[in-house]
Amino acid sequence: MRARSLSSLPSAVVIVGSGIVGAATAYFLARRGIEVRLVEAVAPAAEATGAADGAVSVASKRPGPMMEAALAGVRLYRELESEGLFSGFFKTRSTFIVAASQAECAVLEAHSAALAGAGVRIDILQHEELRQRMPAVSGEAMMAVEVHDEGHAIGYQIVHRLLTAAGIVVHRGAVVEGFLPSSSGNGVRGVMTKHGPVEGDAVVVAAGTGSGALLGFSDVLTPRKGQLLVTERAPELNAGLPGAIMSGRYLLSKGSQNSGHGAPARGLGLVIDPLRTGQFLIGGTREDHGDRTLNDVEAVAKILRDAVALLPGLANVRLLRSFAGSRTAVADGLPLIGRVPGRDNLFVATGFEGDGICLGPLTGKVVADLVCGEAPSLDLRPFDPARFGACEVAA
Ligand SMILES: Cc1cc2nc3c(=O)[nH]c(=O)nc-3n(C[C@H](O)[C@H](O)[C@H](O)COP(=O)(O)OP(=O)(O)OC[C@H]3O[C@@H](n4cnc5c(N)ncnc54)[C@H](O)[C@@H]3O)c2cc1C
Repeated sequence: MRARSLSSLPSAVVIVGSGIVGAATAYFLARRGIEVRLVEAVAPAAEATGAADGAVSVASKRPGPMMEAALAGVRLYRELESEGLFSGFFKTRSTFIVAASQAECAVLEAHSAALAGAGVRIDILQHEELRQRMPAVSGEAMMAVEVHDEGHAIGYQIVHRLLTAAGIVVHRGAVVEGFLPSSSGNGVRGVMTKHGPVEGDAVVVAAGTGSGALLGFSDVLTPRKGQLLVTERAPELNAGLPGAIMSGRYLLSKGSQNSGHGAPARGLGLVIDPLRTGQFLIGGTREDHGDRTLNDVEAVAKILRDAVALLPGLANVRLLRSFAGSRTAVADGLPLIGRVPGRDNLFVATGFEGDGICLGPLTGKVVADLVCGEAPSLDLRPFDPARFGACEVAA
């Protein structure tokens, strides 16, 4: 079905940013035979995508449009895996949300009802059943909800896969400074980089935290730092864990049960992901301040203490490295996906906070639909950038 009839498809599209959202948009446009000009300030996956955990998960999503989008996002990963594109890059596993206090049990009960209501397959584990299913988890765990059919993917691997599969060459080191106005109407005819212009019939901004300055959305978008840890290989402990462990506090730190305004200045929501390599990926903080290139001892120590309290076997596993990245958070907790208000052929896809690895491929697919004038397979109305009013795009 066509949302509006375009006299012709674009022949060339400029995409700003080669994180997972830009790379996926590029892939789905290229698959339609459209020439893609992917312009990147640094290098593919240089920002959030290269510093993410990688949960492809519905478990922590807020009920409503985000949960619906995540369900579609996980489905698409599975489809692309069975088509072969993501084969070997997507690990299917459950997520276990674990509550260690009465307060967390209450949040978890409400959240599991919302998950079940959205059609997600869950099991509630208590007492003996919990100990049997997860023997490595400490006695602190009072209750757990197993969310089935979830997965894990490494953001930079997915970007590499999408770009190589579509044969896309990235214009690296090309910071976009503004847009080239079209000679008539409200459109744009490309972007201006520090190396010169790059032209196209449409422009998609998928520049993460860089999108605010380009589109005049700086008040709407906030960088939210996260610190993560990776351990050495511990194959036995890893194999004994039937999926990722997410502490009930993660839901609180992410605001999964509220409107998205309430994230504390430095939240810590524990997620322990057993990787295919036998290592553990452990995260992470949510901080509205701070240099995203730095880790601090206080945060690393706190993450480790919490991780060992929940999974005592980790006490004997060495930490290999710590790293940090910056999520792009939106004031109302929902991403911006759609046409830039008042501009015919300028689109934006950003503001995925801690959900962009899960939603990246799906977003690329629906943005490609929009750019081609087709009705997207996901209802994008809740994510319409126009909800924040008109914006001043950089000239
Ligand atoms: C610590 C941490 C943990 C996370 N865990 C998860 C998780 O478990 N599951 C999940 O789904 N998501 C997770 N995320 C979120 C996920 O990483 C992001 O939502 C996602 O990577 C966003 O992708 P993006 O393409 O929108 O942005 P980015 O990856 O930030 O890419 C934007 C790109 O645009 C480029 N750029 C910026 N400005 C310009 C400009 N002016 N000109 C040209 N290029 C420009 C940047 O260099 C960058 O490469 C996590 C993020 C962090 C930081």
